[in-house]
This record gives sequence, structure tokens and C-alpha cells, in this order.
Amino acid sequence: MQKIIQLSEVLSNKIAAGEVVERPASVVKELVENAIDANSTVIEVQVEEAGLQKIRVIDNGSGIEKEDVPLAFERHATSKIKNERDLFRIRTLGFRGEALPSIASVSKVEMITSTGDGEGTRFVIEGGIKKVLEPASSRKGTDFTVRDLFYNTPARLKYMKSLHTELGNITDCLNRLALAHPEVAIKLIHNGRTLLQTNGNGDPRQVLANIYGFKIVKKMIPIHAENLDFKVKGFIALPEITRASRNYISTMVNGRFIKNYALTNAVIAGYHTLLPIGRYPIAFLDLQMDPILVDVNVHPAKLEVRLSKENELSELIINTIKAAFKKETLIPDGAVPKKTKTQSEQMALSLDHLQVFEKHKSNKNRQSVEKNSIDIQTNSAEKALLSKKDQNVKNVSNMLYNSVKEEQNQFETLTKTIDEPFTEQTEANDTFSSEHTKSIESLITENDTKEELQEELYENNHDKIEEHTELETKTVSRVPPMYPIGQMHGTYIFAENENGLYIIDQHAAQERIKYEFYKEKIGEVPNDLQELLIPMTLEFSNEEYIKLEESIEELKKVGLFLEPFGLNTFIVRSHPTWFPKGEEKETIMEIIEQVLAMKKIDLKKLREETAIMMSCKGSIKANHRLRSDEIQALLDTLRKTSDPFTCPHGRPIIIHFSTYEMEKMFKRVM
Ligand code: ADP
Ligand code: MG
Repeated sequence: MQKIIQLSEVLSNKIAAGEVVERPASVVKELVENAIDANSTVIEVQVEEAGLQKIRVIDNGSGIEKEDVPLAFERHATSKIKNERDLFRIRTLGFRGEALPSIASVSKVEMITSTGDGEGTRFVIEGGIKKVLEPASSRKGTDFTVRDLFYNTPARLKYMKSLHTELGNITDCLNRLALAHPEVAIKLIHNGRTLLQTNGNGDPRQVLANIYGFKIVKKMIPIHAENLDFKVKGFIALPEITRASRNYISTMVNGRFIKNYALTNAVIAGYHTLLPIGRYPIAFLDLQMDPILVDVNVHPAKLEVRLSKENELSELIINTIKAAFKKETLIPDGAVPKKTKTQSEQMALSLDHLQVFEKHKSNKNRQSVEKNSIDIQTNSAEKALLSKKDQNVKNVSNMLYNSVKEEQNQFETLTKTIDEPFTEQTEANDTFSSEHTKSIESLITENDTKEELQEELYENNHDKIEEHTELETKTVSRVPPMYPIGQMHGTYIFAENENGLYIIDQHAAQERIKYEFYKEKIGEVPNDLQELLIPMTLEFSNEEYIKLEESIEELKKVGLFLEPFGLNTFIVRSHPTWFPKGEEKETIMEIIEQVLAMKKIDLKKLREETAIMMSCKGSIKANHRLRSDEIQALLDTLRKTSDPFTCPHGRPIIIHFSTYEMEKMFKRVM
């Protein structure tokens, strides 16, 4: 056996860095969290080469006292907790005292910091070795620069993904920090291009608008609920807007962005059947609770937390979202969305050094950008004004560069509109969409475009809140009466009323009606049974048999009556009268398959899935002619369902073209 030795501080910091500093985004996260913990109101993050070359975070927070500076880079040195009691009541983002020593051990760090009283301090530390400690300027706050990340850990450097992926992680991380802290003005610049800029006015909607674009935010509704333990606030997108991954569901717990599978699932469950299969919503949840209910001390990156009462919280989230949609009319508009520039496109531009924009960007402009970012200490109002102008200038340049491309896109969109007028709404962009679609002229002439839009946004949401309270008292059908015009291809029903044209997918409508019928039936204890003409005998493997036998009583509650009948065999003699006609046997078999596919029998889920399965059976298929009285009956029954907008698989049932939209299409109005 080799002799045991105590590892040197530099080496043990490097080991810790493996966990805390996984990639450039982790550095950004730790530094910005420190800035937020230091009560900063303005934070600027400058990144070069996706953070591998340089990450600089400038804040206007409390700063660090001169004598504390070297200490801040010691392992487990923190100002945020003092004793064990504090560990269970964490109110800050940091508390482990690991970030600074870890970062400093795998990069070259230069920090200038001041508390605003007297002179500040400049500290240089490279690969964990202290180099310089000297007096510096006294502007309050901290200016932290990390260069050549992983220069001394080649294995880690090799493990880095493409610059685009690393930058994506940085944007993602900063987007979420900004969402969790709308009260802080946060700006992200990559290779001189602004990718995110929030104004710090405390309204999460302005952050959401920065990330997803105004159009999406206009389609997000506020939610709010609380009980003794939890406060749930947030904004959720209407189900017509979906994405291909769960990444657009952001959950914050006490101001900390966290990843929690159960909570994400609760959001999805709240949408219930409103989402198409394999599609996910955009949602932002701000959860507040007593810190004693949250254990943050699970992983060095502090992304995971353990929640006491997780089930209760999930339940509250599900019900809050469900309730919010019960009050909405969820018929999407028929117009096809315009193609817009996304944050990821901005990212791509910021990575490409050969861009026309880069080449033509004037030196003067660049200097003013640099200066502006360093001078963060100047009076904040003045700064905000400066940076806004700067932003406008840049937006204009970006747009000029893109204008030719944009025109092309518009033409494409137009042709698409003509070709396929009823395609799915707001098809997903692959990453966060930033829809700064205002025309170049309007950006130049209207300096306050964003503010105006924001006002509009506020008013819209305000109206909605008022509408809600009104609707709460009377339960109205959420679809207005519609009068049949006719049927197309035996598949789509056309109907009208004073609000315009409605197109209804008749198969989807029937599925919804049947689904709600079966759902109610399955919820009742079946008392009306019908004998099978020929009883079914079913043989299983012993494992399957045991599982089914254990659940015999439960299965009766969904209308499945299994009787043991010899070795690993059951017999089924009867079924509820309301089972889909002519497909009783298939129904029985499919319920059994569902049960076997479940790890543990969850009656609620089984009822749900069985109802969906039954609703697909015997629904009028496409290509089926209906008489006009049949159409009218279908529309009337549909209106009476509790969710007339999507089929149980989440596909839309009704699409609406307002009279105004039609007039616009025919250029009767401009
Ligand atoms: P932690 O955040 O877990 O306390 P860190 O290693 O990230 O540990 O930081 C160590 C200490 O340095 C912090 O507790 C804080 O006192 C100080 N510090 C770090 N960054 C800043 C900052 N931007 N402004 C003020 N103080 C800071
Ligand atoms: Mg920290």
C-alpha cells in the first residue's frame, strides 16, 4: 500500500472544480449567482468564444472587503452561512464556498472589487496560484474576468462540445437566472452581440418577452395560487404554442432555477389532454416556500433540490394550471405565423466572424460598446439610456444585415400560406425564439418600441384578468354557437357565426365527445353488465398472472371482470353495457395490455388511458359524409364538452378565421 498523504490545496480545488465547473456555462452561473447574492441591480456578462476564451461578469453589488479577497478564494469560505442551522434555511443562491476556488484552479482570474468605501482591490490568481494583490479603483461592485478556461485541464477542454452548444448552455442558464430575478437588469453579450437584455423592472413578462419574443408572451396567461405551504405564481403558454422538448418549462424555487422531474411533469399534467402527443408547453413557474422545505445541499451545482411535500406541491401546480385553462377560449387562429428571427439565430450570428455585420460594424461603435460596458458604475439611469440606444443601433445593424434574408423568408412564408393554409399553429423553433419582428423603420423612428409593446402587453393581460373574474361566476360554454355551412372531403366541417369562419375536424370532435362520455362512465361503478356470447379465456405468463390477480378488485372499477380459471388463466364472462359496440373484445384486451404496461396500477391513469383508447374506437373516421342535422348535433354536443378545443391526443378540433382576418386575406382591409 502506498503512503497516505494530504492533497495540496491547489490539487483538491482542481478536484472540486470537476463538479462545480463542468463547462463555461457553470462559470457564468456561479459568477452571476454571486452577483445576485451581493444584491446587485445591474449585471453585465461579456463572453468570448462561448466562454472558453473569456467570461467577464461586472456587477454593482456589495463588493468584497480587501482583507476578505484572498479568503474568498479559499475552499469552503463563504459569507452566506455561519452554522448548521443556516444550512437548512438557505436564502442565498450560494452557500458552499466552492465556486471561486474551483474556477480559479482551472483558469486565469482577474478580479477588481470594491465595497465603495475607500479604495478597491485587484486580485490576480492563475491555476490556483495567487499572483497579484494590489489597490485598485473604488467603484462599488465587482468586475470578475475568467480567461483561458480549462487551460490546465486538457482532458476537460477536449470534452467541450461545439461552441454553439456551449453558448447555448450559457444563454439558457442566463435566461433562467434572469427569469428568476426580474428585479435585476441582466445583459449578455457574446462576441460583441447582445443576446439578452432585461430591464430589471421586476416584471417577469419583460424577461419572458426578451427570451421568447412578444408574440409568445402575449399568448401566455398568468397563474396564481397558494396554500399554507406554497405560493405558485407564473405564466403559462396557451396550448396552441408547443415545443418539442421539456426545456421550455422553467421552475424556480425561492429564486433559484432548479431541475425537478416531478414538478416538470406536474406542469405537463396540468395541460392534460390539451397538448399534442410528444409536444411540451412553454411555462414559467415561480414557487415560494419556507426554505426549511427545500434541501439545496444535494449536488455541488445546486441545480437539484429535494423538496418535502413534493406531491402536495405537484397537485397544487396541476390544479392551478387546469383551472387557468378552464377559463380560456382556446381556439387557435387560422392565420399562419410569420417566420421570425430567433435567439439561436442571433447566437449563430455572434459566433460567425465572417458576418457582413461584423465587417461593417464601425470601430467607433465598438468602442462605445466597450466603454459602455465598463462604465457600469455611472449613474444607472444614464446607463440604461445609453445601453438602450446602443441596443437599438445594434438591432438596426442586425436587421439591415438580415433584411434581404428576411424578405426571402417572408416570401417563403407567403407561398406556404397559400399552399397549406391550415397547418399546425406556431410550429416549434428549435430553441428559444426571440421575435423582434418590428420593422427597421419602426425601430429607427420609435425609440420606445419595446415600452409601447410592453404597455400593450400589460393591458392585454390586465383585460384577461378582469375577464377571468367575470367568467368565474357564470359557467358559459366556451365555444360560441356555430351554424353549419357544409362538409369538405367528408372530413372537415365548415361552420359560421358572427365572429367568422370555423373549421372543425369531425373525427377529432367525435373523439373528444366520446372521451368525455367514457371518462364519466369509467368513473362510475359498473352495475349494468352484459354477458359475452362466448366467454373469453386468457392465458398469461406467471408474472403477468400474479400482477393481474393482485389487481382483480381494482380492475372491476374500470369494467374489467377477470375470474381465475386454472393455471395462469383468467376467464371474462361479461362487460359493462357501455363498452364500445362491436369492439368489446378488443377493448378488454387493450385494457389488460395497459395494466401490464404499468409498473404499478394507477387507477386514475388507467381510467384516463382507457377512456382515450375507447374514444378512438368507433369514432366516425375521416371520409364520412354527414347530413346537416348530424353536423348540427355534433357541433352542439361538442360545445357541451368540458374541453372542446383538443382531441384526447391534444390535436386541435376547431380552427377559427375571424371576419377581419378573412377581409385581410382578400385585401378588403389593409
Ligand atoms: P458562495 O457563493 O457559496 O459563498 P463562492 O466561492 O462563490 O462561495 O464565493 C465566496 C464568497 O465570495 C462569497 O460568500 C461572497 O462573500 C464573496 N463574493 C463572491 N462573489 C462576489 C460578488 N460578485 N460580490 C460580492 N461578494 C462576492
Ligand atoms: Mg457562489
